[in-house]
Amino acid sequence: MGSIWLDGRTAGYPNVATVLRNAGVNVQEYAGWQTRSRSSGGMNQFMGILAHHTASNTTPQNDLSYMVNGSPDAPVSNGLLDRDGVFWLIAGGASNHGGKGGGSDSRPPWDTSKGRMPVDASNSNTFGIECANNGVGQAYPEPQQNAYTKMCAALSSAYGLRMPSDLRSHWEWTDRKCDPTGPSRFCDGNRNGCNGACRWNMDIFRAEVASIMGGGPPPTPGRAKEDAVIIWQDIRYLNAFNMNGPTHMDGYLMGALQFLKAEGHHYAKGYHDQTLAGLCRLVFGITGANDQDVIAKAEAAGMLARNGNYDNDLAAINKSNAAGKGGLVW
Ligand SMILES: [Zn+2]
Repeated sequence: MGSIWLDGRTAGYPNVATVLRNAGVNVQEYAGWQTRSRSSGGMNQFMGILAHHTASNTTPQNDLSYMVNGSPDAPVSNGLLDRDGVFWLIAGGASNHGGKGGGSDSRPPWDTSKGRMPVDASNSNTFGIECANNGVGQAYPEPQQNAYTKMCAALSSAYGLRMPSDLRSHWEWTDRKCDPTGPSRFCDGNRNGCNGACRWNMDIFRAEVASIMGGGPPPTPGRAKEDAVIIWQDIRYLNAFNMNGPTHMDGYLMGALQFLKAEGHHYAKGYHDQTLAGLCRLVFGITGANDQDVIAKAEAAGMLARNGNYDNDLAAINKSNAAGKGGLVW
């Protein structure tokens, strides 16, 4: 039986309703949430957050009725984020939302900052958020999107999670699922979701969460997406170069970037300090108003390698990856 409960009874794990309210999230406490869980009891470990959509188009009351009582798998997730951005907390222990995945199908294992997620065991080790949406193309209202990243940032800060390693979508966990899907600022134009709708680009989502965790002014909607798009444009740019041969880039840099891509980590080619510092703030949550200071902090933390040769870059990135930080080269 898992021993971690989020109602404040477990040392080191503050009351989740308080955590979210302190971050400015509108929380509704569904009666009995403090002791509600799946049959295994509390969480075994708090290793990450799993993001979902409900695949329903009804009132919060109807969704909640199903999630708490109606479903044979109740409680389904730890709570419901409704279309107004209100989070309805339903379970303080482990809940049923992830199912099998994390290496038991075509999706890769999930390596969190706390270690590799046991195969098929996200229910016992993650906080599950169901976001109200029909999942076949319905747009997510702005307040709902804002609350989603805000609460993920608050949960991460309170329970020692890191971005980008400790947050995944259901579709990243298992190839059985497509959630979250639907128009939002986390879309990149793909049509890989259910019913040909946009499947969320979780790198954009995680970048916004990291940005909120990094402090400073909250990102204006669209800003985080704009920065993340720079990363993606760089990846596409580099991929295009790779197809045609790295005619305009040093071989060592290309090698390091290819290595990072193969490892599934964030990377970017920074064209100047402003871009590079912006990416360090966004991806790693490094704070500071001065670009040079931010870059220096990233280098000191082993998150950034620059102006090196291939071996030096690779060594720095390997060290950074081993620490679960990801890496940047330029
Ligand atoms: Zn799901």
